[in-house]
Amino acid sequence: MTRHRDTIVLEAGYPTRSTPGPFVPGLQFAATYTSPGDPSTHALTYGRVHNPTWTIWEEALGALEGGAVVSFASGMAAVAAVFGVCLRPGDIVVLPADAYYSVRTFASGWLTNIGVQVRLASTRDNAQAAALDGARLLWIETPSNPQLDVCDIRELVRVAHERGVSVAVDNTTATAYLQQPLLLGADYVVASDTKSLTGHSDLILGHVATTDAQRAVALRAWRTQHGAIPGPMETWLAHRSLATLPLRLTRQCASAVQIARMLGASPSVDAVHYPGLATHPGHAIAVRQMHAFGSVVGFDLRTRNRAETFLRTLTLVREATSFGGVHSTAERRARWGGDAISEGFIRFSVGCEAIEDLVEDIEVGLRAVAALD
Ligand code: PLP
Repeated sequence: MTRHRDTIVLEAGYPTRSTPGPFVPGLQFAATYTSPGDPSTHALTYGRVHNPTWTIWEEALGALEGGAVVSFASGMAAVAAVFGVCLRPGDIVVLPADAYYSVRTFASGWLTNIGVQVRLASTRDNAQAAALDGARLLWIETPSNPQLDVCDIRELVRVAHERGVSVAVDNTTATAYLQQPLLLGADYVVASDTKSLTGHSDLILGHVATTDAQRAVALRAWRTQHGAIPGPMETWLAHRSLATLPLRLTRQCASAVQIARMLGASPSVDAVHYPGLATHPGHAIAVRQMHAFGSVVGFDLRTRNRAETFLRTLTLVREATSFGGVHSTAERRARWGGDAISEGFIRFSVGCEAIEDLVEDIEVGLRAVAALD
């Protein structure tokens, strides 16, 4: 029997209904394991190599991703692992020009230093397809952070594979609940689980998923040798959070659509970036490859002063970086530098608060902005 994915997420990694004992898998801390004699006869040897709590988390998340999952200490540790197992000096990697800032910084620094050539091309209009000649790896991020541009994963995978190029998709903003790149042909999915996937703003975690057993072995070896291991506590909390992922994201996405429409109708807002709006250039692609359009809305208040006034006036939504949590947050993204966005660009992460309270808070902020004009 094929069950609904909401049920699959809820059941994933839990003991079956015929298994007596604790309902919930327990958390296991261990730096070492009793393992006499030949170590190859033991499933558990040392805490940098194995942990039963990671394994349960990886199996649960794998059910949602549609592949083998290797969990990492952070999203950036997962990103570094894919670059590390794929790229050698002389290789070419094609990155989105609007990729998450730290991914671009990592590539232009560390990768360039070891002789990897980094090519940038826009996410919009599948522009990366024209930059693939001689490349080893195509890195996609859709929807991209922070501008929420969208590209066609299936089409880019087709073009890349025709040229012998491997494809990795940074799926952080969507999560595997909203978008499953492995089912669209991608070789790797990478994500920061710090965001929507775990959704409580209390842990840092990442993972890579792949359908290829050899790639999973290489990623595990990378993790063991670099020591970029997740904490057992983090993976246990992440597994606990997975059960409410459908509930959280369903509410957050529904509220995000409403907020994006409201912002689009405001004369104080220059532009709204949200793939769920019919006016978004990537909307048709997003409809095809996503179950819903995510919890992050970008919008442009044009100037730094207007954006800071908006943020200062809010009474419910916290000013903080990151996104995807059950509490709504917002920030003026240009305060960090490094992204080709206006000084007034706000990245708004829609949480699980009652929509009427969020709408009221945003209205108050927009009134304060209007009063400046
Ligand atoms: N990828 C994207 C798209 C992100 O937004 C982030 C973090 O913001 C990362 C990767 C890195 O994740 P982490 O902060 O968990 O290392």
